[in-house]
Amino acid sequence: MSPSAPVRTTCPYCGVGCGVIAQASADSAVTVRGDPAHPANFGRLCSKGSALGETTDLDGRLLYPEISGRRADWDEALDLVTAKFGEAIREHGPNSVAFYVSGQFLTEDYYVANKLMKGFIGSANIDTNSRLCMASSVAGHRRAFGSDTVPGTYEDFELADTVVLVGSNLAWCHPVLNQRLAAAKAERPRMRVVLIDPRRTRTADIADLHLALAPDSDVALFAGLLAWLDAHDRVDRAWVLQHTTGFAEALHEARTWTIAAVATATGLRESEIEAFYRLWSGSRKSVTAYSQGVNQSAVGTDKVNAIINCHLATARIGRPGMGPFSLTGQPNAMGGREAGGLANMLAAHMEIENPEHRDRVRRFWNAPRIADKPGLKAVDLFRAVADGRIKALWIMATNPAVSMPEAGAVEAAIAACPFVVVSDVVSETDTLRHAHVKLPSLAWGEKDGTVTNSERRVSRQRAFLPAPGEAKADWWQLAQVGRRMGFADAFAWTDPAAVFAEHAALSTFENDGARDFDLGAYADIALADYAALAPFQWPQKAGQKPNETRFFGDGEFYTPDRRAHFVAAKPTPVAALAGPARRFILNTGRIRDHWHTMTRTGKTARLSAHIAEPFCEIHPADAGRLGIADADIVRLSAGRSFILVRAQLSQSQRPGSLFVPMHWSDQHASHGRVDRLVAADTDPVSGQPALKAASVELARAPMALYGFAVSAQMPLPEKCDYWARAMTDGGWRMEFALASAPVDPVASLRAMFGETAGAAAESIVYADAKAGNWRIAAFDGPRLLGAAYLSTRPVAVSRSWACAQLQTGHETVAARNRLLAGRPGADLPDKGAIVCACMSIGVNDIAAAARRGCHTVDAVGLATSAGTNCGSCRAEIAEIVEVHRLIAAE
Ligand code: SF4
Repeated sequence: MSPSAPVRTTCPYCGVGCGVIAQASADSAVTVRGDPAHPANFGRLCSKGSALGETTDLDGRLLYPEISGRRADWDEALDLVTAKFGEAIREHGPNSVAFYVSGQFLTEDYYVANKLMKGFIGSANIDTNSRLCMASSVAGHRRAFGSDTVPGTYEDFELADTVVLVGSNLAWCHPVLNQRLAAAKAERPRMRVVLIDPRRTRTADIADLHLALAPDSDVALFAGLLAWLDAHDRVDRAWVLQHTTGFAEALHEARTWTIAAVATATGLRESEIEAFYRLWSGSRKSVTAYSQGVNQSAVGTDKVNAIINCHLATARIGRPGMGPFSLTGQPNAMGGREAGGLANMLAAHMEIENPEHRDRVRRFWNAPRIADKPGLKAVDLFRAVADGRIKALWIMATNPAVSMPEAGAVEAAIAACPFVVVSDVVSETDTLRHAHVKLPSLAWGEKDGTVTNSERRVSRQRAFLPAPGEAKADWWQLAQVGRRMGFADAFAWTDPAAVFAEHAALSTFENDGARDFDLGAYADIALADYAALAPFQWPQKAGQKPNETRFFGDGEFYTPDRRAHFVAAKPTPVAALAGPARRFILNTGRIRDHWHTMTRTGKTARLSAHIAEPFCEIHPADAGRLGIADADIVRLSAGRSFILVRAQLSQSQRPGSLFVPMHWSDQHASHGRVDRLVAADTDPVSGQPALKAASVELARAPMALYGFAVSAQMPLPEKCDYWARAMTDGGWRMEFALASAPVDPVASLRAMFGETAGAAAESIVYADAKAGNWRIAAFDGPRLLGAAYLSTRPVAVSRSWACAQLQTGHETVAARNRLLAGRPGADLPDKGAIVCACMSIGVNDIAAAARRGCHTVDAVGLATSAGTNCGSCRAEIAEIVEVHRLIAAE
């Protein structure tokens, strides 16, 4: 391959939407750096973005179409998809088929999928995994504003005097925005940051106030704030009178929320609540940003409206430094909303329930029909798959067998569906194993199109790598099926620029200003202009130049009466949400260095070094009550579903609540799919599942033996009762445990790891049955093939040191003995658990720097380079420095 010139593109992970400059060398190695000219990040990247170049190899890629496990060509595969969908539609009607798509889609993919399903198949059974992410924000926006509009911009975070983060672990889930906020706060120390979250997450490190409220009690907190604003004469009554409706009703509901009532509902102290209310009302420039802790709830839409109500009451919207702000989880959740990727929306922010909108879209598409009612939202869609109403299902760029609530039931439904097509970039996922037809898609770096970030900024994702094998763009696959269904003219595009131009043309079609979403300036965009398109914020009407925009500063909204609507949300009593059956409330979410089901981030050793196995955060009081110690294996169960994960005791957790990350699938752990435990309860307005308040049982999982291994080959751990494997430089690392002790532990280790070492291996063994310790290491000459450690207690081996041994020569007896000991000699470095993934700096390196007198994060950075690249680890470095400062002061 010839080397590429540097290409400006966009990170494919979170909704911050950072600009990236990527370059491929002749040997396909990819380097990335932050784009200093991109207005979302100005050159910054987080740990995930910085490691993008390590995810572009072809290991594990799906490269050719497959039918029932055999290689097929595109024509055969697409003919079969067309025939099977056609057959279902003919025999059972258009609502017997469905698409389940993804926030990983580019806007062009979304546009074509939505056009095919809603305009030409005639059903609205297309939903997206963004339903799991921000559907409640969409519903809340539409109730309040009459449109799905994010009013503000990222700059508002920097201009505000108070930034309130509700249900958002910004430091780990939107790291670059967190960096921007931290930098603004450092520049203006009077700025205040409030974190509202049941957990004390890393985001608390920049917060002046952390309110650890009870799960799902946010409506009470913000209804109480509305009542407090009224009682303290902080309502902008003239603006409310002129620009809104429904204030009296909302206030009537809110008045039941006295400070005492809010304290009871939230579990917060009255003084904390008053301090927050005073702080919020005292700063006219205030931003309230919210994310999955608000959206992923059975009362998510009410939470959104309770927040928006407070901004409307004070007219804090649409001006610099103020407004409610929905942080989207995925890179193109916003693009999906714009193109109509949700089952209850049409295209271009038009409404499926509105006959005028339906007629307009049908005429624009020259479509034979148009879906006339909302389709099945994600949870209902998979229920329809389960009960046989859906006969043909096309899943694209997502892994619902892991990420949907009741994931086990969803996987069983997919397995039983008469015809399943899966388009993906990788060859093995928990979903893909049930596909009748597998279609290879282009991955990041190969595909071309646009994405929209949380602040309505449209950016290009550009290809800088050749399409591997026979992989094709998702929009192309959909258009080919559209053509085969007999709609050649409607699906005739030859490039994504033409799709984008049509999307822009629809947005401005008969748009007299009554619709917020308008890309009219790009309706005739030429190929060369699309290729060169710089990031811009919408709206961009025809004849307008790019222009940074806020909405609603003029008091005009998109409701029929052009007024914003207060919503009188009745807070659900928290006791009803956390009823007596709820022994523990399980919160699920992301960790710093992994993304979704790890199909990409799981490929990089660097990103797996920070946290390498699934875990459950438990408050020490709960753990003590249940006889659970740190690093035990614990069993979380709901009904007949269970998971096994590592216990991590933490004061950051509320008693009675647990946290488990969402990322682990069957590809990386034996029993790590946490969404198996989450009931498919949904918000009644948005249909978004309550992924952060599942009811679960918790118990210690008694294990006879615990193990850790490093191996040059991927370990095959079928005989373990618990395992979790991750890539490391030069091979793999694996945690494992056995429920019953084998008669001969060494033979057992040999069986598990010796086979992967090969016949030529030379091994050394340590066995101390009395102390309960067994260890083996196998070599090919000086090269370590694998080392495995087994103990009656969680294994005390330096993980980062052991992983590094896969790339170290072991010529001497002493070096080999150190391997059996599981730690370096006193004279050799052991960096400890990796904190800074970019620079591979461990906790021991940072602690040593702190002991040498580095008392700030910057000083540690100068001494070790930790925290000097993406900065995602700075909060953890600060905590290590603080611990050593306190120790030194004792
Ligand atoms: Fe990518 Fe990180 Fe930027 Fe999100 S914050 S877009 S993950 S670089």
